[in-house]
Amino acid sequence: MRASKEFRLNNNSYLIINSGSSSLKFSLFIGDNSEADLTGIAERLATEQAEISWKYQGQKSEVKLADADHAQVLKKLFAVLSELNLFDSLTAIGHRVVHGGEYFKESALITPNVLNKIEACSALAPLHNPAAITGIKAVTEQLPDIPQVAVFDTAFHQTMPAHAYLYGLPYELYQSQGIRKYGFHGTSHQYVANKAVEILGLDKADSGVITAHLGNGCSISAVQNGLSVDTSMGFTPLEGVMMGTRSGDIDPSIHQFLANKLKLSLTEITDLLNKRSGLLGISGSSNDMRTLSAQAANGDKQAELAIEVFAYRLAKSIASMLAGLSRFDALVFTGGIGENSFLVRGKVLNHLAVLGFELDEKLNNKGGDELGLVTTQASRKAIIVQTQEEWVIAQDTIRLTQPA
Ligand code: AMP
Repeated sequence: MRASKEFRLNNNSYLIINSGSSSLKFSLFIGDNSEADLTGIAERLATEQAEISWKYQGQKSEVKLADADHAQVLKKLFAVLSELNLFDSLTAIGHRVVHGGEYFKESALITPNVLNKIEACSALAPLHNPAAITGIKAVTEQLPDIPQVAVFDTAFHQTMPAHAYLYGLPYELYQSQGIRKYGFHGTSHQYVANKAVEILGLDKADSGVITAHLGNGCSISAVQNGLSVDTSMGFTPLEGVMMGTRSGDIDPSIHQFLANKLKLSLTEITDLLNKRSGLLGISGSSNDMRTLSAQAANGDKQAELAIEVFAYRLAKSIASMLAGLSRFDALVFTGGIGENSFLVRGKVLNHLAVLGFELDEKLNNKGGDELGLVTTQASRKAIIVQTQEEWVIAQDTIRLTQPA
């Protein structure tokens, strides 16, 4: 895949940064490459075990950086880019920012005003937004002249209508506290929805697809005419389908029950729902679909049960997305599980046979036909599209920083 012609072909390079609370992932895109030329991660930040590792031209390197924070990691990264003669061509930096609240309907060039708004959204994503802000500020301090762009996980879903994003709660809680569905994984849903429309030769202006981003985190989105009209994740990424370690939807009364019966605090319950539930919680052994699939194949009943619940809940969520669409052209699978697990795709499509899906087992087992389709000729279409989240961030970074 090549970048679209509207972007000048050049050797400028664009650094994409994904700052977590204790990690910082990065990818460098040179010219119009859709594959990152250099990728890496700094982990266990602010601990003695902090280290940075990267891969460039097939060669892996790593350096211990005991106690390094985001700023020190970036300093090292810029030094590494210099040593590799990649620093001088660095043209702009794109940041993945999890939450843009209702402020951001699209990516934005970072200015003091934009940064203030990202800070204002921190209450909605207390673990993620502060980390992104730390990354942005660290770049600003070290490279004050380089343009920076923020690309938001939530932005794509800002087109959802009120009937899709409101909860059945007192309206005042939306007005005063911003409690509503925001949705996440927006860059991925947007990219794979557009790609599927293109691959299948649909008319974007009159198209309806459901996208299933199935990685460690999982979410489903209904995309009508290229716009998100509903999505499974909500106020936080905990809502929706079951995931690796997250429960997804549960009866909210379970909180009270757990607090009374097991004397758990709210923090402990939130931790349980985010980190010890989902595939891990049911299987009791792993949050990883590949591991669980191997265990199930060897007769592990608990692993099998975890996969069954996962697939059924997915199918149910996908079916619910139909309410947001005025037509339904295709189901799109993406993310580590969506792209690679024929087992999950098969189970989901079998549950959804009533919608006209007919699995082509042979195609599904080999990862799709030349287009990525895993269904029979007569079936409603289900297609695998590889997601490219970093590349989408790079594209927006280029678009917002290149002179017209
Ligand atoms: P991601 O967060 O997109 O990297 O996806 C991670 C998930 O994809 C994990 O649950 C992996 O086990 C799963 N995954 C990756 N490759 C495979 C595979 N070949 N078969 C089944 N699951 C896979």
